[in-house]
Amino acid sequence: MKRSRVLAVLVGGVFCVAVMSLYCMLELMQGAELQQGGARPAAQVDEELSRLQQKIDRLERLLSDNNRLVATLRDTLFNHKASWETGGGGGNMSSGSTHSQADTLPGCRLAGETKDGSDGVQLSDVYDLLPFDNPPGGAWKQGFEIHYHGNEWDEQPLELFLVPHSHNDPGWLKTFDRYYDDQTRHILDNMLVKLSEDSRRKMIWAEVSYFSKWWNELDDQKRERVKRLVRAGQLELVTGGWVMADEANSHYFALLDQLIEGHQWIHRHLGVRPRCGWAVDPFGHSPSMAYLLKGAGLSNMVIQRVHYAVKKHFARQQTLEFLWRQGWDSSPRNDIMCHMMPFYSYDVPHTCGPNPSVCCQFDFHRLPGGRVFCPWRIPPQPITEQNIQERALLLLDQYRQKSRLFRSPVLLVPLGDDFRFVESSEWDAQFYNYQKLFDYFEQHPELHVKARFGTLSDYFHALERRLSAAGTTLPTLRGDFFTYADRDDHYWSGYFTSRPFYKRLDRTLEASLRASEILFSLTLAAMRSFRGDGRPVAGFPTREHFGRLTAGRRSLALFQHHDAVTGTARDPVVVDYGNRLFHSILDLRHVLQSSAHWLLLLDKSRYHHDQSKPFLQMDEVISAPDVLPQKTPLTLSKEPRSLIVFNPTEQQRTSVISVLVDSADARVVDAETGRPMAAQMSAVWAEPSSASTEVFQLDFVAELPPLSLVVYHVTRALTGSAHRARYTFHRHGNPPTVQSQHFQVSRPVGPEADTPVSLSNKHVQIWSSPETGLLQKLRLRSGLVRQVQVQFLWYGTRTGANRDKSGAYLFLPGEEGAQLYSSSEPPLVRVSRGLVFSDITSYFRHFTHTVRLLHLDGHAGRTLEISNTVDIRSEFNRELVMRLVSDVANGNSFFTDLNGFQMQQRRTLEKLPLQANFFPMSSSSFLQDAASRLTLLSAQSQAVAALRPGELELVLDRRLQQDDNRGLGQGVTDNKLTDNLYHLLLEDRRGDAQEVGRASVEHLSLLAHLTSLSLCHPPLTMFAPVDNQLPKIHPFRPLRSSLPCDVHLLNLRTLEDDHEAGSPSQEVALILHRKGFDCSSAPEPVPVCTWSMHEEVNLDQLFSPLQFRSVRPSGLTMLRDDDHQESAQQHPPTHMVRLQPMEISAYRVTLD
Ligand SMILES: [Zn+2]
Repeated sequence: MKRSRVLAVLVGGVFCVAVMSLYCMLELMQGAELQQGGARPAAQVDEELSRLQQKIDRLERLLSDNNRLVATLRDTLFNHKASWETGGGGGNMSSGSTHSQADTLPGCRLAGETKDGSDGVQLSDVYDLLPFDNPPGGAWKQGFEIHYHGNEWDEQPLELFLVPHSHNDPGWLKTFDRYYDDQTRHILDNMLVKLSEDSRRKMIWAEVSYFSKWWNELDDQKRERVKRLVRAGQLELVTGGWVMADEANSHYFALLDQLIEGHQWIHRHLGVRPRCGWAVDPFGHSPSMAYLLKGAGLSNMVIQRVHYAVKKHFARQQTLEFLWRQGWDSSPRNDIMCHMMPFYSYDVPHTCGPNPSVCCQFDFHRLPGGRVFCPWRIPPQPITEQNIQERALLLLDQYRQKSRLFRSPVLLVPLGDDFRFVESSEWDAQFYNYQKLFDYFEQHPELHVKARFGTLSDYFHALERRLSAAGTTLPTLRGDFFTYADRDDHYWSGYFTSRPFYKRLDRTLEASLRASEILFSLTLAAMRSFRGDGRPVAGFPTREHFGRLTAGRRSLALFQHHDAVTGTARDPVVVDYGNRLFHSILDLRHVLQSSAHWLLLLDKSRYHHDQSKPFLQMDEVISAPDVLPQKTPLTLSKEPRSLIVFNPTEQQRTSVISVLVDSADARVVDAETGRPMAAQMSAVWAEPSSASTEVFQLDFVAELPPLSLVVYHVTRALTGSAHRARYTFHRHGNPPTVQSQHFQVSRPVGPEADTPVSLSNKHVQIWSSPETGLLQKLRLRSGLVRQVQVQFLWYGTRTGANRDKSGAYLFLPGEEGAQLYSSSEPPLVRVSRGLVFSDITSYFRHFTHTVRLLHLDGHAGRTLEISNTVDIRSEFNRELVMRLVSDVANGNSFFTDLNGFQMQQRRTLEKLPLQANFFPMSSSSFLQDAASRLTLLSAQSQAVAALRPGELELVLDRRLQQDDNRGLGQGVTDNKLTDNLYHLLLEDRRGDAQEVGRASVEHLSLLAHLTSLSLCHPPLTMFAPVDNQLPKIHPFRPLRSSLPCDVHLLNLRTLEDDHEAGSPSQEVALILHRKGFDCSSAPEPVPVCTWSMHEEVNLDQLFSPLQFRSVRPSGLTMLRDDDHQESAQQHPPTHMVRLQPMEISAYRVTLD
C-alpha cells in the first residue's frame, strides 16, 4: 500500500473508534440517569447494574482497541518520518529504497546496540589463534607441565572442596527403568544412610527424572530425612533439569520445558531451588543453555566436554572460570559464572590434578580386589597411619598443580563417575579414606590447605568470597563450545545426525506438546468464564488430560538427555525412547481433540466425552513408533464433511491443507461463510508412475487466524468440476509408462525433454535439471538471480583394520571426502502443476526428493519447500549428504542456529580436519554476501557444514557398522525410512554485518522467523464423523489479531495446583520470546503481522479479547520465589510488560 493510503486508513480507523466510544459513553450516561429515577425492585436494579457493567466492559475494550490503534499509528508515523528523513520510500517497497527502509525497521536496533565485544574473549578468535597441533604435554597429555614453588598458598591457603557425584544417564546402555532398578535406586538409598551418618559428608544430584522416581517410593519419614539433608546443605540438587540435556540437537522449547518440569518438581517437594548448573557429559556446550539457566535463577555453572585444545588454552590463560555472555548481549544482565573443568574427563583420574595415574590412586572404589581398577597400573592403597604422610603429600601435589590453572586459591575437585556409589562399601571406602586425608591436612597447618567434602554451592560461595576479597575479576566470554573433540582428530560431529528418524520424532512431539498445552489452557479459561465460577466443566476429563500433558512433558524432557536425542544409546534403549515419544504423541492428541471438541460446540451442554469414541480424529495416523505418519482417506458425499484445522501459531497464516479423499472431485467451503476455498486435486502415487484410482489428494488454501480452530466443509463435487493437477514425467532416455486415469499426463520427448524444468509463482521462479529434477537456479521478483544447485553425496569412513572409524558419536570420513551420488539408471522425475502448488519429485534409489512452490500471494509463497524421504538401509558404512551449491560469496563464514534460540557465526577453517567443520543445526542456517542471503530452515536437527564458499551441506542419515570406542559398544544400523523437511529462502540484502569483537552478530530475517514458525508448528487437521445428528459447531478464534511478528508465544503451560497434586491450577505460565531480527532487508511481501520498536507491551491488548485477571512476571522456570508483584498501581491494573529483543520473558498469569 502507498504511504498516503496507509495513513488515511489508520486515521479513519482511529476516528471510527473514537466516534463509537463517544456513542457508548452517551449510552452509559443515559443508563446512569435512569438509575436515579426512584426506588425499584432489587432484581431490576441488579439487572440494570449488570447491563451497566457490560457496557463498561465494552467501553473498556473499545478504549483498549483505540490505544492499540494509536500505538500502531505512532509506530507507522515513526517509520514514515524516519524513511522520509533518509529519503527512502517508506511503505513503498521499490528495490531502490530497500536499504533505507531496512535501516528504519522498528525493532532492528538490537544488532546496532551490541558494540562492546572488545572487552572479553570471543571464542572464534581463540579458534583463529590456536594451531591445533596437539603436542604431547607429559603427564597431562593434552596440556603442559605445571610448576609451582610451594609458597603460593602461604598467604591465601588452598581451600579445597571435594564434591561427590554420580553421573546417572537416564538411558544409554540400559533403559531408564533398568538403570533405575539396577543402580540408581541403590545409590539414592545409600545416599540417605551414608550422608545421615556424618554431617561433614556431601553429595550433589542432577537428574530429577531419577530423583522423582525414587521419591515416589519413599515413605514420609524418609522424605523428611531427605529434606533435612537438603536443608542442611549436605545434598544439593544441581541444574535441576529433568535430565542433563544435550545442548546440540535440542530445541530451546524442550530445553526450557525439561528445566521447568525439574524445577517445579524440586520446589514442590523439597522447597528449594537450584543455584548451580552441572553439565559434565553433554558433548559440547551451548550459550543457549547458559541463558536458560541464568533466566531460571542459577548463578553458576560447570561444564566439562570442551575441545582439548581450547581447554589447554584457557588453562594457560587462567580463564577456565569466566562470565559467559550471550553473543548478542551488550549488558551483563544475562552473564553467568562458568567453571570449565580443565582435564579430559569428569572421572576421578581426571579431576584431582593433571596426572591421571596419580589421581586414579585416590579413587578408593578401585582398591585392589574390586571390580574396577586403574588402567595406569598403580592401584590405590587404603590410607593408614603408615602411608598417610606420603599419600597426603602426593595428592596435595596434584591439587596444587591444578590450582595453578585458576585465578583464586579455591579448588573444585569432583569425586565420582558414571553410576557411582551404588554399594554401601563404596561410600565407606571413599568417605573414610578421604576424611583421613582431610584430617591430616588439618593437623598440618604448614601445608596451607583446607580440604573438605562440599557441594557446588559450597565451592562457588567460597570462590565468590575469595574473588571479591582479592578484587579479582573474571573475563567475559562469548561464543559456544562446538564442535567437541576429546582427543586427536576425534570430533564429535557424528551425533549431530545419528538416528535422524528420532530427531524428527522429537520435534513432532515438541509441536504436539506445545499445541496441546496452548489449547488446553485456552479451554480451561473458556470453561471458567462459561461457568462463571472459575471451575472446569463437569464431564470434561480435566485431571486425566492434565496427567497426559504431564506425561508428555516428561517424555519430551527425558528425550533431551545427552544419549537420547543425540542418537547415542543402544538399540533396545532407542526403541524404549521411541515408544515413549510415540505414546505421548497419541496421548496428547486426546487432549487436543477433546479440547477442540468443547471449544467448537455451539451448545456446550451437548459436550460428551467418550475416550473410545472421540468426536474428532486427527487426519494423520502414526501406527507405530518407527514408521512415518500416514493420512486417513476421508469418505465424501454430497453431505458436508466437517474438517477442523487448528493453527498453533500466534500468527494469522495462509496454509495449504492437504487431505486424502475418495473422490477425484471435491469442494471445500469455509463452514461459517460458505465461501469456497481455492483447491486442487492431485494424484496419490501408489508407485512413482502409477496413480491410485481410489484415493486422491485434496489441497486447499486455508486462512487461519492465530491460535484458531477453523471449520471447513468438504463435499464430493461433480465429476470434472474440481481443478486437477497436470503431470509431466521425465526419465532420461527411457520415458516411463504412466498409469493415471484421472489426470492429464505428458511425457516430453526430443528437445523439449532436454530443456530445464521451470516452476514459478508470483514471487519466485526456479529451474531444475530435466535429467535429475534437482534445483539449479532461482530468481526473485526483484530480479535477483542465484545459482542454487542441489546435489547428493556419500561419505564413507576410514579404511584399514587398525584405524578409527565413524560411529554414533564420531564422524571420521575417508580421505577421499564426499563422493557425488550416482545412480546406474536415471531417476524418474515427476512434475506436477496446479492452482495451489506445483512441485518436482525425483525418485532415486536411496531417497525421494521433492521441491515445491506454493501459489500463494503472502510470504508462504516466498520459500521453496524441500523434502527428502531417505532410506539407506541397504548401505554399509555410508552417510548421505544433501549439498546446496550456490554463487553466494560468503567466503568461509556462515551461520547456524543454536537450539533454535539464536544464530552463531561459523568459520570453516582449513587447519582443522573436515569433520571439525561440521556443526549442529536445530532449525536454521544461512550464507550471505553483500547482495543476498540464502537461508535454509529445517524441521529437524542435523549436522551442517559450509566446506567451500557458496556451499551448504546437511548430513541426512548415517549407517555405521562399528563402535567408535566411546562406551556404546555398537554401531548405528537401526536406520528407518526417514523424512526431513526444509524451507529455502533467498532474500535481497543491503548493508554489512555487525561486528562484535571481530565476530558477526546476525539474526534471521522476519520472513525467515515466520517461515521457521510455520515449518516447526504446522496446522493440525482433524475431522468429525459422518453423522447428520451431529451437534452444531462453530469456529474458535481466541485472538483478535496476530501477535507482533517478532513476538513468539513459546508456551501457555497450565501449572499444577499447589494443593491438589495431579490437578491443574488456574495459573498458567505465559512464556514469550521476542526475537531479534535482521535489518539488512525489508520483508517482501510485507507480512500481515505488525512490529514495533517499543519494548513496553500491554499484554491485555496483545492477547485481546482474552482477559488476564493477574499477571506476575516470573523467572523462566516459574518458581514462586522469582515472582514479582504485578504493576498494580492503576485500577484496574494494566498489564504492561517489557519485552526486550532476544529475551525470553515468563509470566504467571490467570486467564479469563
Ligand atoms: Zn552421560
